[in-house]
Amino acid sequence: MIEKVPFSETFDPGQGRGIAILGSTGSIGTQALDVVRAHPNRFRIEVLTAGRNADLLIQQAIEFKPNAVAIADQSQSQKVRDALWEHNIKAYSGPDAIAQLVETEGVDIVLTALVGFAGLQPTMNAIAAGKHIALANKETLVVAGEIVMRAAREKGVDILPVDSEHSAIFQCLAGEKHNPIEKLILTASGGPFRGRDRISLAGVTKAQALKHPNWDMGAKITIDSASLMNKGLEVIEARWLFDVKASDIDVIVHPQSIVHSCVQFEDGSIKAQLGLPDMKLPIQYALGYPARMKNDFPRFHFAAYPNLTFEEPDKSTFRNLQLAYDALDAGGSAPCVLNAANEMAVAAFLRDELAFLEMSDVLEYTLNSVSPIGNPGLNQLFELDRAARAAATERIKQS
Ligand code: NDP
Repeated sequence: MIEKVPFSETFDPGQGRGIAILGSTGSIGTQALDVVRAHPNRFRIEVLTAGRNADLLIQQAIEFKPNAVAIADQSQSQKVRDALWEHNIKAYSGPDAIAQLVETEGVDIVLTALVGFAGLQPTMNAIAAGKHIALANKETLVVAGEIVMRAAREKGVDILPVDSEHSAIFQCLAGEKHNPIEKLILTASGGPFRGRDRISLAGVTKAQALKHPNWDMGAKITIDSASLMNKGLEVIEARWLFDVKASDIDVIVHPQSIVHSCVQFEDGSIKAQLGLPDMKLPIQYALGYPARMKNDFPRFHFAAYPNLTFEEPDKSTFRNLQLAYDALDAGGSAPCVLNAANEMAVAAFLRDELAFLEMSDVLEYTLNSVSPIGNPGLNQLFELDRAARAAATERIKQS
């Protein structure tokens, strides 16, 4: 269970809490800046980073006046530097710069809102520098959950969940520190293909897969939601965040996305957290923790949703969810390999080089191709990631 640091002590009403946003140009990043914009006395932006969207990064930097920015794509470096030098904002480029900027003095909390394995190194650096983490980048915990959580414990930093399901669980656990968890119940919308069988899924297009019924998110997580991989990644994320066994984490499909997730305690009582599907709420809760800050987000009304429904997930059609449970059971290198194969498969699907159902084939092939390691260290995880990407690429070329 998450140990709560007296986090409110880092609030300084004069200056606000110092924030680094990794992936400020993305879906989570831009919504986080909306939260910051609405609470200028609570937060101050110290660092912003992006992948390749230089124009938006520049615009954000001019508005929020961070100490420094970094862009992963080196070819955009000069453009960002030229635009920001007259504003006295330092500009860097490349993945190493992103990983180093999290250590900046004045940063209290790092929001990891970049996509995929790229989140691992900056998160480790931030923890080592004693920064709290608002964790959106679930892939970090999928790949290296044990290592990351151990480092956070040793440094006494909080890993505050941003994912709506994990934020819901975190909120349900408030005041329950001494009460063991019997079960976590993660809700899943079921995505755009809920109820479909394998035959009807064979020819679905990326445009169909990118149309999520409830959430407006980045491309990778939207495809993961359509394949139920996202829920599989969340099961692994929950295992590490809340220190529960895989067999004590259930998934239930809830198409309305109002119940964001639940905790069942040893007396059978279930606590759930509810609200409209809006990522700004979990983002705000993580950045402002433990304060609940007043806002004007649209409110949920029970009478407007008379039919909240629940159903079992179809793990034989959506095999990725089962593959994630299997990888968690196998432990060691398996979740890292699964994650790398999935990143490659999703990218290939988005390039129209792989059919929707073939993404699971790539995961299975890669898991069988890369020799398992029992208890990989951080450096071995980087090697495993590379090996898994190579194996997945080989399989994608055959399709
Ligand atoms: P987006 O694709 O919308 O945004 C990703 C951000 O990361 C962008 O700023 C992008 O930069 C940057 N980025 C991408 N690749 C790299 C890289 N290799 N190095 C550095 N920066 C990079 O993603 P989301 O905001 O949807 O998701 C971010 C994370 O949050 C994911 O791990 C996702 O699973 C998780 N999450 C997202 C939710 C959502 O509602 N969107 C909900 C729960 C979790 P640029 O655009 O400039 O290229």
